[in-house]
Amino acid sequence: MVHVGIGYDVHQLVAGRKLVLGGVEIPHTKGLDGHSDADALMHAICDAVLGALGEEDIGHYFPNTDPRWKGVPSKIFLEEAAKQVAKRGGKIVNVDATLIAQAPKIYPYIAEMKKCIAAALNVTEKQIGVKATTNETMGFVGREEGIAAMAVASINLPE
Ligand code: MG
Repeated sequence: MVHVGIGYDVHQLVAGRKLVLGGVEIPHTKGLDGHSDADALMHAICDAVLGALGEEDIGHYFPNTDPRWKGVPSKIFLEEAAKQVAKRGGKIVNVDATLIAQAPKIYPYIAEMKKCIAAALNVTEKQIGVKATTNETMGFVGREEGIAAMAVASINLPE
């Protein structure tokens, strides 16, 4: 049976941090603030996968109070989510995600992001969708105070 999950994440843009999205480091004047590498795209995907399993969210598996996850690359969160899928005899059908960022331009990095996400989830790049949009200068995303991401995942489970 196919199960669907949804995920959403947002992090603040601050000076002095690297900008990492979909596992790709993107040159920019600011980066996302957070306990891990603050990769909002991977976090949203992680929650979508966990949600399709009916599992608790990323914060349950990787609390931001745990020093083990400080500064870690978020691909380890996706790898754990994929492990949870495998544990239940499930198979990821596909993942689709949208980044909402006013700046920088995301498009040139999308192919590489798909590669990183697919590798972390142990699926092919064809199973991963990544799109990006601006927020038409409106709201906190439009003012470049943060970057948001949303994702859905569908997973084929034995029951
Ligand atoms: Mg997050």
